[in-house]
Amino acid sequence: MSDSPPPNRAAAAAKIAANPSGYKVCEGCDSIVGSGAALCPNCHSYRFDATPERVTLQARILGSREQTSVTADDLG
Ligand SMILES: [Zn+2]
Repeated sequence: MSDSPPPNRAAAAAKIAANPSGYKVCEGCDSIVGSGAALCPNCHSYRFDATPERVTLQARILGSREQTSVTADDLG
């Protein structure tokens, strides 16, 4: 596993769910972005839902099925 692994959505979702305050959900496309992001990297929306409940819910959705992309940069 020394070279770059493919994105693991379940692992990413678990990481987000463990620290929902570090993330927020784009109101435009439901992507999860880092809490410091000013604009959504996917749709360039500036409207976000930063409530932990929403972030955790969205992380669970992302982890359970192939859906909206999560940007690797924001999860690093
Ligand atoms: Zn978006």
